[in-house]
Amino acid sequence: MVDQPLPVISYARISSDTEKDEHGVEDQHRTNGATARRLGWSVVAEITDNDLSAAKAGVTRDGFEAMLRALRAGRLPDGGAVRGAVVVADDRLVRRAGDYERFVDALTYDDGRVYADARGPKNLYSEDVEAMGLFGVVISKIEVRKIQRRLRDNHRSRAERGVPVGGTRPFGWNEDKRTLNEAEAPYVRQAIRDLPRGKSLTAICAEWRAAGLRTSLGNEWTLRSLKLTLWNPRVCGWRNYRGEILRDEEGAPVVGQWETIVTPAEWEAVDAVFQARRGRSVGTGQEIGDVLPENHSQARHLLTGVLRCGRVHEGKMCGTALRVSRHKDCKSHLYVCPSKAAGGCGGLGRQGDLVEEYVIEAVLARLEERQARAASAEPWDGEERLARLVAKRSRLSEEWQNDAISDDVYFPGVKKIEAQLKELRAERHRRQAMAARAGETEDVRERWKGLHVSQRRALVFEALHAVIVHPAGKGRKPFNPDLLVPVWKEE
Ligand SMILES: [Zn+2]
Repeated sequence: MVDQPLPVISYARISSDTEKDEHGVEDQHRTNGATARRLGWSVVAEITDNDLSAAKAGVTRDGFEAMLRALRAGRLPDGGAVRGAVVVADDRLVRRAGDYERFVDALTYDDGRVYADARGPKNLYSEDVEAMGLFGVVISKIEVRKIQRRLRDNHRSRAERGVPVGGTRPFGWNEDKRTLNEAEAPYVRQAIRDLPRGKSLTAICAEWRAAGLRTSLGNEWTLRSLKLTLWNPRVCGWRNYRGEILRDEEGAPVVGQWETIVTPAEWEAVDAVFQARRGRSVGTGQEIGDVLPENHSQARHLLTGVLRCGRVHEGKMCGTALRVSRHKDCKSHLYVCPSKAAGGCGGLGRQGDLVEEYVIEAVLARLEERQARAASAEPWDGEERLARLVAKRSRLSEEWQNDAISDDVYFPGVKKIEAQLKELRAERHRRQAMAARAGETEDVRERWKGLHVSQRRALVFEALHAVIVHPAGKGRKPFNPDLLVPVWKEE
């Protein structure tokens, strides 16, 4: 049921009787619905709270609680599936600090859940402070509490010293979990270098199996276990702690006491690849959150999940992901908007070979351009600025915790710093991905010829969020590439 729109809850509240409420509840649900449609999700339940006094501790919000129950269970009381939530504005969702954590816990209870607000989808599985900035100032306080709580955590303090923590031997290391296993580590290193250059997980997995490698538990490698191995920041000396990179109080990753297989930059390039795919799968409304490279290789057509219907009806763009179909009069396959029953508008179609030719050309041109830029790029010079900002933020937090500055000074200040940090980190990420690509000398067009459709899709998704297909009007019209509007990913 890959093309079924993803079922989500729309949540709204009547937030205040004193401040004039900008959106009525109906407006909130309407905005949520539009956001969901744009993302290829479908609202299966509208939950509303009359929340005039929820900011007072001890007042429960029935709607909010019902939403948490449904998210945790993955289904509504009537048995219908739920895979996420859309909320028009975050400050409506979270009035008390504990609510935020409970909401995230419930939503991320299972893999593949989605969340969006009016500004678009957010990945709640990634817990870094910047990502949490979406919940506004509340988070800064939560973050402080979280750090305090974790400092009391024994597991954490071991991890903080970089001491390997219990569990099975990680693949690539010996039983001591510190020294490299010379038979295994080179495979991990090679795979991490190959992935950002377009080699697929499927191909790597096949090679490892052919080489007779087994996981440290003695099992055959699967795409899933391979992905977890390569994506584990342990390979570069960093540590995952409850789904995020463990950082010290200055915000720098804690470095482990074990030998590393690759550099942090190499791991971050792989991380960027997986994150990009994660972003992609959110957009298509397929198996979300879980990267599912299986899906990647199963798709037989280059642009499923890429093309979106641009037909406008009653002032709103349809936005549904186009599906592949066939027609007896047409040699090529067609990309069409699914029927109304299947969540689309059923009113748009385009000849597959022509669309693909155009999109391939646009993507290759873009990749060539990027390669040329990467080859001539100066090294990134922002590390010092980043370190300064991190220090500034922790100074500010310290002053706030010691009551040296008021909430009115602290929250706007920390918000500003976090916005700058977010930008800098994103830039660093881009530059690292760029540096990883700078080593490629092979011609993009030549490489394209030798790629499997799954690898081509990976390249397309690396460059594009989507291509909006605008209607051509009634009757048969000659193919007009101007009606295809690519939405490029920022670099
Ligand atoms: Zn449509």
